[in-house]
Amino acid sequence: MDRFKKFIRSRYGMDSLNKFLILASLVISILQGLAASYDKVKLAGFLSTFAIAFFVFFVYRALSGNVALRRLENEKFRKMSLPLRKNLRKKQKDKNYAYFTCPNCHKSLRAPKNLGKIRVTCKSCHEEFEVRT
Ligand SMILES: [Zn+2]
Repeated sequence: MDRFKKFIRSRYGMDSLNKFLILASLVISILQGLAASYDKVKLAGFLSTFAIAFFVFFVYRALSGNVALRRLENEKFRKMSLPLRKNLRKKQKDKNYAYFTCPNCHKSLRAPKNLGKIRVTCKSCHEEFEVRT
């Protein structure tokens, strides 16, 4: 048992790329199940190949002893997925704001949502007006 623990500790384990791989594998498996239930045999076969490939890659990376190389892969993955992650974060943020334009200078403004009717002052022309958030 100690040898097993030592083995696990010296392995690479989890990172962003591995989280993505295991999630992708799971999602594709679900899609494959759906495809199979609709008798789309070819599609199901195609998807299961991908699901297995993602899963194998995940296990390979998690159990890898080459930490330096895995870190490099993860860096690459994070760089590649940066625009996407930024976009997701932005969308999350956007949900918390109400957007409107200044009636005087038409500049786009925002305020936190769910404050009800509030009085705002435009940052650029200092026009005061009421908005519903
Ligand atoms: Zn204005």
